[in-house]
Amino acid sequence: MVRPVRVLLVEDDEPVAESLRRGLLRYGFEVAWVTTGAAALSHAEPYDVVLLDLGLPDTDGLDVCKVLRERSEVPIIVISARSDETDRVVGLELGADDYVSKPFGVREVIARIRAVMRRMQPRTAAAEAGPDRYGDRLTIDRKAARVRLDGEEVALAPKEYDLLAFLTEEPGALMSREQIMEAVWDANWFGPTKTLDVHVAALRRKLAGVITIEAVRGVGFRLEIVKGDQDNGGGGTS
Ligand code: CA
Repeated sequence: MVRPVRVLLVEDDEPVAESLRRGLLRYGFEVAWVTTGAAALSHAEPYDVVLLDLGLPDTDGLDVCKVLRERSEVPIIVISARSDETDRVVGLELGADDYVSKPFGVREVIARIRAVMRRMQPRTAAAEAGPDRYGDRLTIDRKAARVRLDGEEVALAPKEYDLLAFLTEEPGALMSREQIMEAVWDANWFGPTKTLDVHVAALRRKLAGVITIEAVRGVGFRLEIVKGDQDNGGGGTS
């Protein structure tokens, strides 16, 4: 079994921290929560990712970010109520890997965590894990960014692959258009989302009978893996 991802949460705002902590626990993460920059810097336990609030009581979160980055390669996601573009840029320049603005949903944070950890993998992990399997027919090799259907590689455009990789992180989960656009296209997407529908349609076509992507009106999409069906050679779409 894969061990849980260990998150160091640095946040002095108790309601925000508590709801984030509960949400992360619900999704199987381990969370160590500290409320000051000093506690963050002296936290000895190993952790896989840092969620770092910028507005801390004892020190500027940007300074914490800088020190953490000097010490290690651990992914740092800045969380902040400051919507100032300067903070964002400075945070990223100081070595933060990503940035989420308050208010945010726990799913958005989880998507960011998974994304930064995926980007870390080539730097750290040995190639121990094979491709991820979905049912009997579909495999996604996240290291090589390759998708196979019945052993044959499926030709996907880069964004089709990114969309599939994102939606298959949690089959059955309803993802909002905003979450998908942010995770797959751009963290600052404000434009129309028609391009999303086009990519969903392409995935439905290329992976027909293997996955379904249900449109939930006014919200977003839900991907499901079609269960293997030995009796009649696979179900059609209904
Ligand atoms: Ca704060």
